[in-house]
Amino acid sequence: MSALGNHILVEFMGCSPEIMNDVSAIERDMVGAAQKAGATVINSTFHHFNPYGVSGVVVIQESHLAIHTWPEYGYAAVDLFTCGEMDAWISFDFLKDCFQAKNYSALEMKRGSVNLLTRNDFDISTMRQKADEWVNPGMYTRNVWFTDKDENQALSLKYTGEVFHDVQSPFQRVRILESPKYGKLLTLDDMFMTTENDEFHYHEMISHPAMMAHGNVKNVLVIGGGDGGTVREILKHEGVEKVTMVEIDGEVIEACKKHLPSIAAAFDDPRLELIVGDGIEYVKQAAAGAYDLLVVDGSDPVGPAEGLFSVEFYQNCYNALNENGILIAQGESPKFNENAFAELNATLRGLFGEDKAPVSLFYVPTYPTGMWSFQYGIKGNINMKSFADQAAADAFVDAKGLRYYNTELHTASFALPNFVKDLLK
Ligand code: SAM
Repeated sequence: MSALGNHILVEFMGCSPEIMNDVSAIERDMVGAAQKAGATVINSTFHHFNPYGVSGVVVIQESHLAIHTWPEYGYAAVDLFTCGEMDAWISFDFLKDCFQAKNYSALEMKRGSVNLLTRNDFDISTMRQKADEWVNPGMYTRNVWFTDKDENQALSLKYTGEVFHDVQSPFQRVRILESPKYGKLLTLDDMFMTTENDEFHYHEMISHPAMMAHGNVKNVLVIGGGDGGTVREILKHEGVEKVTMVEIDGEVIEACKKHLPSIAAAFDDPRLELIVGDGIEYVKQAAAGAYDLLVVDGSDPVGPAEGLFSVEFYQNCYNALNENGILIAQGESPKFNENAFAELNATLRGLFGEDKAPVSLFYVPTYPTGMWSFQYGIKGNINMKSFADQAAADAFVDAKGLRYYNTELHTASFALPNFVKDLLK
């Protein structure tokens, strides 16, 4: 043995950008490449970066395989480092096909030339004993991370590596993944939308405060909300007669019905009219004064949801509300996309009145910073910080077993930190 290890430095070029940006596919293929060459996989750790790119390493008993991708160039830098009898060129050929590389370069070099090394004499029995204590797990631990970030901060969730749903719809990439901590989760493009274990934070706070403050909601319009959690909560109120939900992307509804049934639990309620269409157009055509409640449960101001932050859209929402109506909008975060947060409130104050656009803050662990908001537009004289009937509200909380919302929190959520008040000024 002239060298301790063999290192192949590979440049894969002209690869499919989609594959270069798919952390699950790359993790699967890198592990597959190791196994194809007969390696024993110990651990895999892979990260997906926003807006794009994947980095990861597969630790094998014979050393490691590592990768970093630049989807925007269709390029992957791969390290195949092995020791022992393993032929890493088998892994090279496997990956070349998996990544659909149109061309490549590869440099093989011997690492640790024994001629240059001096062997240390040490009691190998102690080492061997340690080695013997090591039990090969027989299965490898996967460390695959999904990251939702902007240019300054990020939120990463470890997930199992399994991809339950992955469809590029006409509007966005719809994926269902599973996190050991948060259960199954929905991502749109590269943003966390909802998870089984913290969705109730969001869905209880987008619905119940307005329901309790108004006290007599009959007719509701929900824009977006494709996961179904918002209509599920609203339809818990027996007094509601009709909910119209307008979701632009049918793929989101189908994915959630199939993989997130605890959230998409009310789609069969007879009071629900489910429309797959653009909410911006729908509100434009809506009858004036039709709704008691208008809920904008949209995603971040990009892609199909960009228009859900426009003055024109909220003017149409204003017109569609009856004289005592309440608008609730997913309001972004004062700590993640401050501008969108502040601009939305300025729009609502401009349309509904200076003191008719209150903001409530709540916490969603799987949204970057965890601090999120709902912003209101009050058309009549309803005071969002109080209740039409507090006793009935408390009884509802107990009867429905709500896990986030309660009447103290309802009022407290409108108490804003000074930096947020300044931001809104
Ligand atoms: N809780 C999430 C958040 O805070 O980002 C939002 C959840 S919900 C899944 C957002 C939904 O809004 C998505 O299903 C998306 O397809 C939908 N949506 C985006 N733009 C829309 C539009 N113009 N009309 C109707 N639905 C829209």
